[in-house]
Amino acid sequence: MELACLDLEGVLVPEIWIAFADKTGIEELRATTRDVPDYNVLMTQRLAILDQHGLKIDDIQEVIATLEPLPGAVDFIAWLRERFQVIILSDTFYEFSQPLMRQLGWPTLFCHRLVTDNAGRVVDYKLRQEDPKRASVKALHSLKYRVIAAGDSYNDTTMLSEADVGILIHAPKNVIAEFPQFQSVANLAELKQAFVDASQRTLLV
Ligand SMILES: [Mg+2]
Repeated sequence: MELACLDLEGVLVPEIWIAFADKTGIEELRATTRDVPDYNVLMTQRLAILDQHGLKIDDIQEVIATLEPLPGAVDFIAWLRERFQVIILSDTFYEFSQPLMRQLGWPTLFCHRLVTDNAGRVVDYKLRQEDPKRASVKALHSLKYRVIAAGDSYNDTTMLSEADVGILIHAPKNVIAEFPQFQSVANLAELKQAFVDASQRTLLV
């Protein structure tokens, strides 16, 4: 039995915080772990900024609903789901990704959770577990699935290592250079072919 695990942001949809910053014009929300290496510090800062701008969960989802999946992503996910059981393994939050997941047709998503109060203020966040992408692939292996995984960045590399076949897509040059053990593809059309090649079944593109 074969299962496909995909990263979300940078593979099927834009980087959500960056796109959200662009849409709202809130520059400070463009900060990433490159600027603030401690993820907890970064998230606490992001939640404080949302609060300063009076943005509640509904406002956030309204903005995110104006974003679109990357070109070809809707067709790609439909194509993949005809050939594999598909699970999206992401470091996003359910509440954040919901409007984009709707456009992708609600594939299964394992990610994290935002905590809101009764008024809809985002007051906290809950990470599901340590190294969740790797832990998910391990768990799927325990269920006797063969896993083919694809992602675009550093936070995917433990998932790609744990998988039977790991594929980089849309990855920056430094990640491609640092992880030469993974095949690297440039676009979703090439990723289709990579999944066909990685499968032990005879599939058609
Ligand atoms: Mg990504």
